[in-house]
Amino acid sequence: MWTSLPRLSWVLALVAVACHPSGPPEPTFDRLAAQELVRALSDDALGGRLPGSPGHAVAQRLIIERFEALGVAPFEGRYRHPFRYGGVGFGADVIPRREQKAGTNLMGWIEGRSDSDSILIITAHYDHVGSVGGEVYNGADDNASGVAGLLAIADHFSQHDPKHDVLLVAVDAEEEGLAGARALIDDPILPRDRIVMNLNLDMISRNDRPVLYASGTSHWPFLGPLVEEVALTAPVALERGFDSSRDEDDWTLQSDHAVFYRAGIPHLYLGVADHADYHGPDDVFEKIDLDWFGRSLTTVILLASALDQALPELAPPPSSAP
Ligand SMILES: [Zn+2]
Repeated sequence: MWTSLPRLSWVLALVAVACHPSGPPEPTFDRLAAQELVRALSDDALGGRLPGSPGHAVAQRLIIERFEALGVAPFEGRYRHPFRYGGVGFGADVIPRREQKAGTNLMGWIEGRSDSDSILIITAHYDHVGSVGGEVYNGADDNASGVAGLLAIADHFSQHDPKHDVLLVAVDAEEEGLAGARALIDDPILPRDRIVMNLNLDMISRNDRPVLYASGTSHWPFLGPLVEEVALTAPVALERGFDSSRDEDDWTLQSDHAVFYRAGIPHLYLGVADHADYHGPDDVFEKIDLDWFGRSLTTVILLASALDQALPELAPPPSSAP
């Protein structure tokens, strides 16, 4: 019955968080830097960040510079995780391709202060769909905003050491069948056995309904109380949903968290409901409500911190035969 141990340890850790009077430290991050990163990544000059394009290469440099500025270490000695992809994948926007393409995930590493082996992997894709009919699809909300969230978490954890090791990945080629996340999980560079949780951010800056949704708890019910606890103090409405056939839409397979879900790794996905400018030329920085976005970033950090506090130790492997 060793397989039930992780669930039990989660429950105990969640109870510990709920009972801890002071809780994790207040979210600390440079809000202006987060805004500026969204503005830069979604600038017309980057042409919509299509993998392989010059603007996409600029996006890579901007993200690595931000890792460096925050003192976030490269993972296994490098920020870049190159991969090749092609063919048909799974996901909402699968684009079959005959030719092989090159992609590059970007990885940062923050060492935890405990001696736990558990890793929290946080993901946000930085690619977008490029230009269509001569118009730049800027992808400010999708997903420059999530990348800014990833780096806001990095900002916070670089000032308040997390308990556990945190792997931060700006994922490539999400728009092309989740190719970057699939390449990462298939690569032996990733210590899969140590990954106990994926938090994925995709579109977190604007919403017709001012709600940030946490999707995933119907698959991982033991995470429900943690989300509810964070929602009590979050500065935006944080609601669970969009993760079962009973919802108006099921996002379980619609962004990079799907790859972790399919690998049996618990996940939470934070995002907004689709808006009229989704995958269009008007997904621009100017349409972001900066006040709401700032509060959304604070909420993202609160959730990442709560997960870090609650992460279980790895269950012992089944005792090997003498
Ligand atoms: Zn997206």
